[in-house]
Amino acid sequence: MEYTSHAMISASGRDAKTAAHQVSCAMRAIGTGGGPPYACPRWGVGVDSTVHASVLDSVRYYAICQDCGAELECCGVQALVDGGGLRWDVESTCSACGFAIAVCGGEMPSERRDQMLAEHGPAKLQLISRSAKHVVIMRVLRAELGIDLVEAKAVLRRVLSGDYSGTLPEMELLARKLRASGIPAVAARSRSAN
Ligand SMILES: [Zn+2]
Repeated sequence: MEYTSHAMISASGRDAKTAAHQVSCAMRAIGTGGGPPYACPRWGVGVDSTVHASVLDSVRYYAICQDCGAELECCGVQALVDGGGLRWDVESTCSACGFAIAVCGGEMPSERRDQMLAEHGPAKLQLISRSAKHVVIMRVLRAELGIDLVEAKAVLRRVLSGDYSGTLPEMELLARKLRASGIPAVAARSRSAN
């Protein structure tokens, strides 16, 4: 099934480099097994929006090439994928030796999250209705954030006062889960991406 979604994208025509990335993603998806249906967020961007209705945000940073020690340009993408949770994928290319790698489905490092928030601005979780059932909201918060009742109450207060924020994919995930539970909510970024 995962493979099918990639095949559909490949039918829209990709160059060799993107095809290679696609293959590595597909292989990883097959290798992981048992996880949620895989959708690489790279291919949700301006490729075929009918395939993935993903919400994503990205940051660019530099690391050291493991092959030659030169500067390695990395692009990290945090994405909320169809029917699933958040993903963190990194694509890296060395300017000197041409080493290229795509690592899909890793854990987002906190420094990259900080960078994302600094560069693009935080998104806020906003409730559309003031009369939404608090018990339902807390149930969603506890399930999605893995927090206890006390923590959920604190988060609820921040949500109600319009003071709960995070990256756009993170807030969009909560907004979708709330909407699925009958609570009208949206994720919105106050300042636009630069
Ligand atoms: Zn290199």
